[in-house]
Amino acid sequence: MAKKEIKEKLIKYSLTQEDIQIIEQGRSIVLNKLKDIFARGGLNETEIETFDSKYAYLLTKKTYKLPKAKNLKSNMFNIFVLKHGKKLDRKSLTSGRYGKSRFDKINELLKKKKDDLLKNLYFNLISIAPFGAYWKISGKGKKKQLRVEAYLASYIVHEHGHIYFINNAKPNVLNNFSLFKKLALNSKKAWNNSKNKFDFEFPIFSYIPHHYATLCEYAAAKKLFPKYLKRWHKNAKSHLRFLTKSEKSFKKWFNDKPLLETYYFDLLYVPLIINKWKDWPERLLKIGS
Ligand SMILES: [Zn+2]
Repeated sequence: MAKKEIKEKLIKYSLTQEDIQIIEQGRSIVLNKLKDIFARGGLNETEIETFDSKYAYLLTKKTYKLPKAKNLKSNMFNIFVLKHGKKLDRKSLTSGRYGKSRFDKINELLKKKKDDLLKNLYFNLISIAPFGAYWKISGKGKKKQLRVEAYLASYIVHEHGHIYFINNAKPNVLNNFSLFKKLALNSKKAWNNSKNKFDFEFPIFSYIPHHYATLCEYAAAKKLFPKYLKRWHKNAKSHLRFLTKSEKSFKKWFNDKPLLETYYFDLLYVPLIINKWKDWPERLLKIGS
């Protein structure tokens, strides 16, 4: 019953000026405050898609033959708008992605400007749910500052991290997960406040561009988002306790829920990599070269 009410509410979500402002703030952080992470630059032209229950919005420096959003303003972007004709569920209203729009019409539009393709595969685009929808679903009106930080880090910085990685990494880094893993395992002592043993290996199938993006997210949190960082460490410690209860129970649990493994890698290994290697952004882009 309660769940249904939430769904109805979200289907009616309309983008607000606050959603635009938070995206602008995020872009400004990416370009100006995280130059140590995104040292090679190149993110200024990345287009941003957001959406509500009726419309898709394209925030871009470019011009398109599309109507502009009438009630939304930005000093940073042109905001184009089109009806997307899709029903968006709870999941799409709280998710980010990169390289491809979630709407066919926008993909068609971007295809015409082929020079924007990164590595011939991805559009120079991130697609993120609006803050307001994310807040309603995950924040329930409380802890707004934590939610703002989480949104800036895990949506805006993270998805820019994907674009940055794709644009700059050596092609064969994509298959070289073992080096990533070695970096993490070598540095596991960084969790020195934890009394738990961390002496087994995760079964690994992970996805490197996503881990790189999560490194960007965590590094940004260390620098700018203290509440989000604190929550990260709290989650990490409680998961570490669970994971290290016994290898046997962990393996049994993992077999039931393999998709969560990427999440645990992020939660636990990403802080280790960052604490160990101050030059991680460049170091990891060069793996495989
Ligand atoms: Zn990702």
